[in-house]
Amino acid sequence: MVRKHRDRKSKGTKVFALAGAVRNTGLVEVPIGTHLGELIYDIGGGIINDKQFKAAQIGGPSGGCIPKQNLNVPLDYETLADLGAIMGSGGLIVMDENTCMVDVARFFIEFVQEESCGKCVPCRTGTRRMLEILERICAGQGEMEDIDRLEELGNFIKTASLCGLGQTAPNPILSTIRHFRKEYEQHIIDKYCEAGVCAGLVRAPCLSACPCGVDVPGFVSMVGDQRYAEALKLHRERNPFASVCARVCFHTCEDKCRRAQLDSPVSIRAVKRFMVDQEVMVQIPEVLENDENAKRKIAIVGAGPAGLSCAYFLARLGYKPVVLESEPRPGGMLVQAIPAYRLPREELAREIRMIESLGVTIETGQMLGRDYTLESLKDDGYELIYLAIGAPLGVDLNIKGSDADGVTEAMSFLRQYNIRGSVPVGKKVVVVGGGNAAIDAARTAMRLGAEEVTVIYRRTREQMPAYAEEIEEALDEGVKLCTLLNPEEFVVKHGKVTGVLCHHMKLGEFDRSGRRRPQDDAEETAEVIEADQVIIAIGQALNKDTTVGNLEVEFNDSGWVKADPRSGATSVPWLLAGGDVATGPSSVAQAIGAGECAAIEIDIRLTGEDHSFWRGYKDQGATFDPDAEPLAYAREKLPTIPLARRRHNFSEVEQPWSEAAALRQARRCLRCDYGKQPTASNE
Ligand SMILES: Cc1cc2nc3c(=O)[nH]c(=O)nc-3n(C[C@H](O)[C@H](O)[C@H](O)COP(=O)(O)OP(=O)(O)OC[C@H]3O[C@@H](n4cnc5c(N)ncnc54)[C@H](O)[C@@H]3O)c2cc1C
Repeated sequence: MVRKHRDRKSKGTKVFALAGAVRNTGLVEVPIGTHLGELIYDIGGGIINDKQFKAAQIGGPSGGCIPKQNLNVPLDYETLADLGAIMGSGGLIVMDENTCMVDVARFFIEFVQEESCGKCVPCRTGTRRMLEILERICAGQGEMEDIDRLEELGNFIKTASLCGLGQTAPNPILSTIRHFRKEYEQHIIDKYCEAGVCAGLVRAPCLSACPCGVDVPGFVSMVGDQRYAEALKLHRERNPFASVCARVCFHTCEDKCRRAQLDSPVSIRAVKRFMVDQEVMVQIPEVLENDENAKRKIAIVGAGPAGLSCAYFLARLGYKPVVLESEPRPGGMLVQAIPAYRLPREELAREIRMIESLGVTIETGQMLGRDYTLESLKDDGYELIYLAIGAPLGVDLNIKGSDADGVTEAMSFLRQYNIRGSVPVGKKVVVVGGGNAAIDAARTAMRLGAEEVTVIYRRTREQMPAYAEEIEEALDEGVKLCTLLNPEEFVVKHGKVTGVLCHHMKLGEFDRSGRRRPQDDAEETAEVIEADQVIIAIGQALNKDTTVGNLEVEFNDSGWVKADPRSGATSVPWLLAGGDVATGPSSVAQAIGAGECAAIEIDIRLTGEDHSFWRGYKDQGATFDPDAEPLAYAREKLPTIPLARRRHNFSEVEQPWSEAAALRQARRCLRCDYGKQPTASNE
């Protein structure tokens, strides 16, 4: 296939051997200057199983790796050289999100090492040294200086080798360090391989993928053995919100489940749901009573999953932290935003009561910036303060008509209903946005009596950040979805909104997020969607002034508090931060993981030692029969209540499995962890 020539400098066409995680593989001839994204998506048909594109390795074994931020680059000699890659033989290997870039570098240098003829020392010995360093890093034995060593060696080999092999051999390593340095650091500092690939760092990919470090194969197999209470205890070692997560977790564990390579992933979240439903009386986890720790004053601001998890883990070390919450009810977005048809309030309340029973005090109606400041807490004797106030504000869409009656914003719409118990709802509701808040607002409006609910989003359905299963449920419930539509102004009559004037969009060039950028489609005429209520759900924000007052806290470029993800440390020595306030809108599991990290850091700062006993590897006794075959059943979904029963009520939509279904699903687990030693990252 030959496409239009667009390049100004390099001439002609180029044949690429398209391979890897792309739908259409084979030889393709394209004009030089064709964009990488076009080659992968238009010709290659996109990534297999709709996974995220991660990088393309271009130019054969000694080519470089180009990340998704550069999908819009033209494939010509000069651009590739600028990015640390080469045109070379035209080999183009597409890699998806499940690829470890450190392992990729190791793989290619191993190949090049074997190919080295041995005539010149830089190539013969230099590539061997690079391979040894990479093997160390992949085994979890690397040190930070190794990155510098690789760069130094790589640049030396490039300039001092006699032939093209040595002169290009370091490319995969240098380009992965350049574009994926964070992955090298995770391998070295955290002993963590995010992609779940490096055997020395990964006990099971699902476990590595869980932001809370829950022993997934452990609890799933215990459920398979009908040891429900033990399974739940194991889960709560790393995550107090088992019941919450059984309902709303985005289950990154399932995305990495190896069973998917055979048929489909184990339904880990649904197995968890069955497990938590077996609990009659909430189990109280192990607590180290400690009189000294109990006297220390620690304040946590914000009772969302980050703040409450921090409190939970501190309490298990014998501390008695105080959690200050502005709203009348604790739980953060779990109670204010996520609707009860997804997360029944009693389930959340039960787990919060369990945390309180460990000695945690939660004071509601206590608002930072109004009732106290971070400095006044410090003056009151709190030694350390954990800031976990999330991303509480909605973001306005500043277009004509935004101030009309009937235009509202999703965070306050959801909060008003969930906390105050009622909110005005129109008959024809338009929701603007494509994230979870948009879908939750749409489904809430539907339940509260709206006759017609339309979600408009400026990109495509595949690009919506909302959880795919939620979008499906919303559509089943009658929500209309209009994609590639962008609101231009709100039509207003007598001060009240009557419609949304929208432009049609089409997808253009790839942007730095690796997605095609939406742009006005001049061929389509604008249209008005009638509405007597518009709910804007285009993002969340933080009010810096009320959060930190005069305290000099550093913020990152996106406007969130700058905090070390490993410890929560901020630029102020006595202040830690975590959860959405530091990452921007993320997930419940991420917030829980952040809370745990902060609790450990607080303990280390106060005692000089790490006492996080719950992180140790738990021997599960004779839970696993190595001769037992994983069951051949297909993946099953949780049953849901009929659509007719979802109007005018907030009954939970997902229903639990029978025991028989739960057991056969749990027994689908391949037990990837079997026989593996605990690794540093999941101890
Ligand atoms: C509509 C919606 C649906 C979502 N659905 C999911 C989902 O299905 N699965 C998932 O994993 N994630 C989901 N998320 C994201 C998830 O809820 C958040 O990432 C998570 O709750 C962040 O936890 P946090 O503790 O950092 O912050 P939050 O949950 O926001 O908690 C912060 C707490 O701080 C309090 N606070 C704020 N300001 C102050 C102040 N000035 N003084 C004192 N207290 C204050 C707040 O009231 C709140 O209780 C959703 C988010 C939204 C908005």
